[in-house]
Amino acid sequence: MLTAACQAFAEVFTKQSTIECQVESIEDTICILFPSCPFCNNQLATCSVLGGVVEEMIVWLYRKDTLDSVNKVLRDYSLNITPRNNDSHHVLITLTRKAGKHRN
Ligand SMILES: [Zn+2]
Repeated sequence: MLTAACQAFAEVFTKQSTIECQVESIEDTICILFPSCPFCNNQLATCSVLGGVVEEMIVWLYRKDTLDSVNKVLRDYSLNITPRNNDSHHVLITLTRKAGKHRN
């Protein structure tokens, strides 16, 4: 479900910004890809602009103002945003259940 929402965002984002954005999902991990970065031409490993885009996407998906308030809503889950292979043009998003909290 989160994957579908990310794909919707990627489509809108690609149209509005003309920055190509793709979404892939592998099991519980969502990968956001920026195959043709207009800022650095995919030359820089650390492209901070795109990290900001992914954060914005998460905040938008959950209809919140900040990443902090998203994390509050997630409660028992933690959201991790990490670059794959230290390349910020491939961003992995995972939602993992926090250990030690079991409530029904
Ligand atoms: Zn870049």
